[in-house]
Amino acid sequence: MVIYVDFDHTLFNTTAFVRKMEEVTNKKISDIDIKSIPEISEKNKIDLKEFLYEDSIPFLEKYKDYNLVLLTKGNYEYQEFKILKTNISKYFKEKIITEKEKGDLEIDYQKGIFIDDNPREIESIMKNSPYLVIRMKRGKYKDIEIDLDIENVSSLSEINL
Ligand SMILES: [Mg+2]
Repeated sequence: MVIYVDFDHTLFNTTAFVRKMEEVTNKKISDIDIKSIPEISEKNKIDLKEFLYEDSIPFLEKYKDYNLVLLTKGNYEYQEFKILKTNISKYFKEKIITEKEKGDLEIDYQKGIFIDDNPREIESIMKNSPYLVIRMKRGKYKDIEIDLDIENVSSLSEINL
């Protein structure tokens, strides 16, 4: 069994990080060039580890001997930057950064446990009959309802595999 863990809004408080970026640049996130985020963070001495949810490291520690795979969708450089600066790579056997839908990958879904907050990604994963999907209800998409019979949690500490 492989445990696929999402990054944004699951391990990392992306909403708070984006708010911080907007605050230090005095710009809307849509007006900030994604490529300049590492430089802005550096210049303003922003420690990305502070944006990990407080239950993230305890969860990763608890499951570090399992087959953990980080599965994140987005711009490669931006995702890589956040992963590097939060120092969580060491917990994962593999990292998958994709710009495709999470349901369109060359992975064995039926042997996968997926932890994700994004309803659209969850729906895409569900098309492949995954072993288990746990929806993290926090962050940007927490109030979006989906018509799927899956387990919902609002903290990683609620997960017992
Ligand atoms: Mg997410």
